[in-house]
Amino acid sequence: MPHPRLRVAVCGGGIGGLVLAVALSQAQDIDIDVYEAAREFAEVGAGVGVWPRPWKILKALGLAQDLAQVTFVPPENELVVALDFRKGDEPHGGTTFGQMLSPGGLISFHRPDFQRIVLQHLARSCRPHTSKRLVSYTQPSSASEPIQLFFQDGTTATCDLLVGADGVKSRVRACMIKEVADDLRARGDSITASKVMQSAAPVWSGMMSYRTTAPSEALQKRYPNHRLLKEPHVFFGKNTQMTAYPIARGTLVNAAAFTVRWDLENTYLDAPWVVDAPRSEFSQEFADWEPEVQALFDCVKSTSRWAVHTVIPLRSFVHRRVILIGDAASAMLPFQGSGAGQAIEDAYILSALLTHPSTTVHSLERAAKIYDAIRRPAAQRVAVLSREAALLYTFNYPGLTLDRDGCREEQLQKIYKRIVNNWAWAWETTAQPDLERAIAMLEGRMQ
Ligand SMILES: Cc1cc2nc3c(=O)[nH]c(=O)nc-3n(C[C@H](O)[C@H](O)[C@H](O)COP(=O)(O)OP(=O)(O)OC[C@H]3O[C@@H](n4cnc5c(N)ncnc54)[C@H](O)[C@@H]3O)c2cc1C
Repeated sequence: MPHPRLRVAVCGGGIGGLVLAVALSQAQDIDIDVYEAAREFAEVGAGVGVWPRPWKILKALGLAQDLAQVTFVPPENELVVALDFRKGDEPHGGTTFGQMLSPGGLISFHRPDFQRIVLQHLARSCRPHTSKRLVSYTQPSSASEPIQLFFQDGTTATCDLLVGADGVKSRVRACMIKEVADDLRARGDSITASKVMQSAAPVWSGMMSYRTTAPSEALQKRYPNHRLLKEPHVFFGKNTQMTAYPIARGTLVNAAAFTVRWDLENTYLDAPWVVDAPRSEFSQEFADWEPEVQALFDCVKSTSRWAVHTVIPLRSFVHRRVILIGDAASAMLPFQGSGAGQAIEDAYILSALLTHPSTTVHSLERAAKIYDAIRRPAAQRVAVLSREAALLYTFNYPGLTLDRDGCREEQLQKIYKRIVNNWAWAWETTAQPDLERAIAMLEGRMQ
């Protein structure tokens, strides 16, 4: 490419970074470098679910047809069971108390399949680099001067715009927040500077997630017609929860089982975040759960335990020509199955602003501000709903705890209705109005 209009560096090759790279490569005159810290682009061998709202974006980006080859995609307008709700913390058998229906349901993937297909769609204008861990950057105030990137291996690179898609532990976020706080201190506002600094490091949610997959064939043998071979389920329990669903065209069942200590929410955990967990630990935490859950555990070979971390809501996702997307911007609890969905939405709106022909190096800061105005409130709202879902799932939502005698069924129904109402945005709305608003703002047709 002789003279690219923009040179974009994407730090992080997870779902958000790669979808952004695909979306940006639809413009011929944008030069894209993706810098991934790991030795190869490799997603964790777990499942990820996508709701109709982000699925429509994947379709618009030309990814849906190939993604549909590795999963089952229900007809878009047909109501299907997205999730069955079941109280699972009962040793003699759980109770199903609700079914969440949605048009198109929850489309579930084995993460490595998803990543492989997105990678196949990267255009030639995009250069992926592995073993490139960003350590810091410097951002000159003049847009004519490039941003400088510094990597752990001692190499450097330059770009016009840096996108931090580097996940919950984001190095880009840490550097960006320091830049913002330094600016505030220089202007004498050390109180706001300290508040801003609270979002620099991720915080522990008090939750541990046991993530695993079980071969469907083994599960069928161990427990014929196990409910997880057919439909996705959320199992509810006091301070415990499990979401499980078939993936890889039904050959595996993916499970994420959670324990929570709400009193430890937003603390700092002085321990490794991800460790191998023996099956005995996993089963012990859920020892009083129903036989079908125990049967699933019996079929599991390995499990890992993840300390679930989040980001304290940021005051901005952008600082001049540095922009955060996905978990780097708004890592949230996974209880609306929407963290990856938000990363996809971030990528979609940002790419529309950057590929717009009027966007140049000199108007990048304006495009960044529009991205922040559209995406930050939306993603932070989903984070709030995800936390509310976590309280409901674990019977900790104020007034809906099942601790009161005699009204268990009534309480379960109230929980069910609240969860469904909170979730409906994921299939009843689309990102199209946000996209149109962003473009209208960019073109000066809207404030
Ligand atoms: C148990 C569990 C279940 C979930 N289920 C769902 C679900 O069903 N649906 C859903 O939508 N979401 C789900 N999520 C959330 C989802 O996994 C995340 O929101 C999503 O993966 C975020 O994508 P990302 O690209 O922003 O970050 P990541 O996937 O974390 O990718 C970040 C990338 O950046 C790289 N990187 C990190 N630091 C650097 C650096 N300094 N330099 C260069 N590269 C770097 C990393 O190696 C990584 O490849 C779940 C989360 C959990 C914990």
